[in-house]
Amino acid sequence: MSEVAPRIDDTGAASGVAPGRAIVELVDVSRIYPNGDTVVRALDRVSLAIHPGEFVAIMGQSGSGKSTLMNIVGCLDRPSSGVYRVNGVDVEDLDADALAELRCSTFGFVFQRYNLLPSLTAAENVAIPAIYAGTGREAREERAHALLARLGLGERAEHRPSQLSGGQQQRVSIARALMNAAPVILADEPTGALDSRSGEDVLALLSELNAEGHTVILITHDPDVAAHARRVVRFQDGRIVADERREAEPARPPLPAMGPARRGGLVRFLPDLAEAVRMALASMVANIFRTALTLLGIVIGVASVITMLAVGDGGKQSVLERISQIGTNLLIVRPGAPGIRSSGDNATLLPEDANALAAIPGIGAIAPERSSRYTIRYGSADYFTSVSGTAPDYLVARDWPMAEGVMFNAADVKAYAPVVVLGETVRRNLFGESSPIGRYVLVKNVPYEVIGVLAPRGANAFGQDQDDVALVPLTTGFVRVFGRQFLNSVTVKVDDAGNIPAVEAAITRILTERHQAEDFQVRNTAQFLETAVETQNTLTLVLGCVAAISLLVAGIGVMNIMLVSVTERTREIGIRMATGARMSNIMLQFNTEALVVCSVGGAVGVGLGLAAALGVEWMGATILLSLMPPLLAFACAFLTGLVFGYLPARKAAGLDPVVALAYE
Ligand code: ADP
Ligand code: MG
Repeated sequence: MSEVAPRIDDTGAASGVAPGRAIVELVDVSRIYPNGDTVVRALDRVSLAIHPGEFVAIMGQSGSGKSTLMNIVGCLDRPSSGVYRVNGVDVEDLDADALAELRCSTFGFVFQRYNLLPSLTAAENVAIPAIYAGTGREAREERAHALLARLGLGERAEHRPSQLSGGQQQRVSIARALMNAAPVILADEPTGALDSRSGEDVLALLSELNAEGHTVILITHDPDVAAHARRVVRFQDGRIVADERREAEPARPPLPAMGPARRGGLVRFLPDLAEAVRMALASMVANIFRTALTLLGIVIGVASVITMLAVGDGGKQSVLERISQIGTNLLIVRPGAPGIRSSGDNATLLPEDANALAAIPGIGAIAPERSSRYTIRYGSADYFTSVSGTAPDYLVARDWPMAEGVMFNAADVKAYAPVVVLGETVRRNLFGESSPIGRYVLVKNVPYEVIGVLAPRGANAFGQDQDDVALVPLTTGFVRVFGRQFLNSVTVKVDDAGNIPAVEAAITRILTERHQAEDFQVRNTAQFLETAVETQNTLTLVLGCVAAISLLVAGIGVMNIMLVSVTERTREIGIRMATGARMSNIMLQFNTEALVVCSVGGAVGVGLGLAAALGVEWMGATILLSLMPPLLAFACAFLTGLVFGYLPARKAAGLDPVVALAYE
């Protein structure tokens, strides 16, 4: 290091310091640590003034209070009593942020164990203090590289600390101390971990910086190291026992301005945020496996929200379609008083009632129905199904076309014809692939000719197979199948939806008159629709809740990992604080990390959820993709990051810099 590279212009020290005014001044400073019932006086009424441009060695045995002094001088810690002034400003009057600012602009720390961040390159490590000083990225990088080049590490700028020797790491940490053009360099045993050759290099470098105007405070227990300084202050048991000057202070060159001032407000916040996002991504990559596991929770949460809502909405959609397929202009009359769910057979609705209703104007079709379950036999095949006795209008009312053959007609009904029309499910079960038309099936040992097959309809709104049915004329059914002559329902198709209320009123009036009691109920398909939609909404809600709970669990997982991460990175937090990070910077960093994890997880989850929904569709279920669930799920993931990142971030920001730095 004998060849001195050209000086970097603003590597100077505090400006405007009146000659004679101390840059660092302690008056009667004590630092007391509680120790069980007693206390430890790490510093005991120390008074010390250090002027700009001095090169002071603080000497003393281990445990004499040197590091405690350095922490107080460097504004990482505060005195228990006494006054400490930096440039004439009493630190007592400063809050945590102002202290951080003072640290950032005035002091550069060089630690015994370098304290570089292992996941960053040398240049990135050097640039950290400038991030917290609010220097722009380009200016930062340029200066970091210039400083490294000057300290003979130009070739190593992109290496990580683990790829550097101890001496090189210490030079990187000196470059970091110079980054903000701090006027005071605080070096605590900077050569303690180095071999003598590297130690000499570091000391030569410190002397050189002192010659350029930096105030250097060097802490050591080694007299050979202290010999480089021009002033030696000896400590013993927290007190100054000697203060010697080797030579007169030489005249100092004028001191250039301090590092750039911090910007305020949004102008400052946005670059901070960009920097925090960059740092968050870097730390995610550094802990890739753990990040992946944390992400997994969020991904599963978000994906399940999206898939479940898509499936739920799809189910709702298909139910609505099926209901509208039945027709919305239908009124269905059933026996039994309204509000009472009859379990047995209500023998109150008669075929004559249906005949009376047929006279109501505005009715397009009317189909009385009586059904019960019986076994139908063809050859040796048996099939148990619902046999319905009804009128030809049944298919008109339900908009139900034929697949083959014909429906029985009014003449068949009148003639008690032994004919049957099969639903597709019944046909398939009895006849397989062949056509049943013209063949005979047995119901209750009576043969019926198959005259038609209904077009397949699939499941209804309630999941029942509508094709699992066999239709016979109502009259035939009464005589040969059911025995007793009353109805299960009368389906009325109203021509015009506008007439539904009038027709419904007429039905109620006529039946009440005929029965002298309201022993029936009239419902329209709109009501079915309502019920079905309600059922589906409940289902969707339940699915949504399950998904939301999984997101909540994922959020707690994120918080857990972040808390572990804060503990693990305590030292990093200490280093960042020592290099000028304010509480808000640390808060922002950890909050951003949680946010970035959750946002990335949210984005991946949205993709996966959509893919899963499409997979479900491919397997045959109906899904409905809309914009809202992905947006909502992503917003939830984001919010999860915000909420569950807060606690760890607060924990990180609340750390005491001294404790954090000492953390193993
Ligand atoms: P040095 O750096 O000279 O070796 P320190 O300043 O680290 O000494 O410590 C001075 C004294 O204060 C020691 O007796 C030490 O045990 C005590 N001390 C330092 N830090 C703490 C602490 N956080 N809590 C309790 N005692 C402490
Ligand atoms: Mg120490």
